[in-house]
Amino acid sequence: MPRKVLIVEDNRDNRELVVKVLKNKGYLTVEAVDGEEAIEKALAEKPDLILLDISLPKLDGYEVARLLKGREDFQDVPIVAFTAHAMKGDREKVIVAGFEGYISKPVNIRELPNQIKSFIRGKRESILGGEEE
Ligand code: MN
Repeated sequence: MPRKVLIVEDNRDNRELVVKVLKNKGYLTVEAVDGEEAIEKALAEKPDLILLDISLPKLDGYEVARLLKGREDFQDVPIVAFTAHAMKGDREKVIVAGFEGYISKPVNIRELPNQIKSFIRGKRESILGGEEE
């Protein structure tokens, strides 16, 4: 059964690029352009993974992650930060906020499908920078 990914990104070029790459790999994609729409689509579509931009209109990515991770039905849904911030402190911040990991922008279109697959299969990043399966 095809996996469904919710892509939350207010930058249209970034969003359309990710959608195109994932569709080519057989994923179903759902899109949201702000934090409120992200919550609505997450609840309605029950995605297998949420790729979540941090800087978003209405609610930011931290707020969206906090709200969804406060729900029992999203405990096992990986929420991956989609962020241009690659500093160590920012990485720690997204993990502490409840994200399962992060994917850096600009997106590497060759790596993206494998990164998404790994998180769907249970990859979890830790604050120390290592990975836990
Ligand atoms: Mn943004």
